[in-house]
Amino acid sequence: MSFPLYLDHPASTPPAEEVIDAMLPWLREHHANPHSDNRHGQRADAAVEQARSQVAQLLGVDSDEVVFTSGATESNNLALLGLLGQKTPSRLLALSGIEHKSLTEPARFLAEHGADVVRLEVDAAGRIDPANLNIALDRTADVKVVAVGYGNNEIGTLQQVAEIAKHAHANGAWIVVDASQVAGKISLDVASDDVDLVSISSHKLYGPGGIGALYVGRDVRGHLTPLMRGGGQEGGLRPGTIPVFLAVGFGVAAAIALRRVADDQLQLESLRRIFREHLSLLGIEHRFLGHPEERLPGILSIHFPGIDAAELLHTVGSELSLSTGSACTSGELRASHVLRAIGLSEAESGEVVRVGFGRQNTPTDAIVAAQTLHRGIMRMAERSSVL
Ligand code: PMP
Repeated sequence: MSFPLYLDHPASTPPAEEVIDAMLPWLREHHANPHSDNRHGQRADAAVEQARSQVAQLLGVDSDEVVFTSGATESNNLALLGLLGQKTPSRLLALSGIEHKSLTEPARFLAEHGADVVRLEVDAAGRIDPANLNIALDRTADVKVVAVGYGNNEIGTLQQVAEIAKHAHANGAWIVVDASQVAGKISLDVASDDVDLVSISSHKLYGPGGIGALYVGRDVRGHLTPLMRGGGQEGGLRPGTIPVFLAVGFGVAAAIALRRVADDQLQLESLRRIFREHLSLLGIEHRFLGHPEERLPGILSIHFPGIDAAELLHTVGSELSLSTGSACTSGELRASHVLRAIGLSEAESGEVVRVGFGRQNTPTDAIVAAQTLHRGIMRMAERSSVL
């Protein structure tokens, strides 16, 4: 076992060996611009198209509906600004308070530029009630959009995406889904969910960083305006030269994810159960946040009342790499907006630790993680009684 144990998979997953192996020849031997009309370019283009098809299969969509981007942040921006960035007289966007910054920040920008942004309430488990969309979207607007994260990166709660999509469409809205935490973790079926735009990120599914995708359904395509202007690549929606080695790695990661998703899910659920059981045995006061069943298999969000999470992470830092419920924005530690939205106070938000298991983790890792957190909390208690 090598320390610190990596338990920060929701932040980023390590590229699989097969992914690295598939990428290297595209750095070493086959370098080319996939948009060049020569032998080298054609070979690179074929590799990019194979990757596109692998990503499409993971989502259950057609290849020509997949647009490569630099990651989920860009995909979310392209979706929201691409649909709502135009100066149409009336624009309406509905989203909850637990969404990732790559949705909430474009939303804030749109609100500052005249769009009507409606906040969808979530319950204490972080779930949106799909029926609430009927009220949120009950007004006339030229463009209406609902944006939702399929699985939350902090608390792990899954949304009822198919139901949300049904209500969005019944009210004349497009639906944008950020599936970056979900792709490869649970089976995705974009067709049966009936959603319009879906963001995913390669480095969240054991592929390389720096590439992602946006699924663009056929109906919505003509309504999406690109963020950048250039050489017309990706059907004009995302101009710029595709990095072939990243696309190839992303494609292989997607193919592996598709093959392994059921096994990975079982493994992560089992690690989560083992961790929970051991933490309970150790007798430290804690509660798990997020939905108890409808959740991402590998994420645990744990509230330790009275324990400063940043200090705990520091205390166990040489043994475990974890995250807190706080985000460091411009050097300033802020309470997580997600934890605040599900009802935690500012102080409680600073007492939350996220454990994120991944493919490489073993049952022993789960036990060691629980024991190490327990030991860390004990050490902190000793320190504070000495002071
Ligand atoms: N959405 C969610 C839910 C995420 O967890 C992340 C990464 N933290 C992103 C979007 C941004 O992804 P990327 O790093 O690919 O831009």
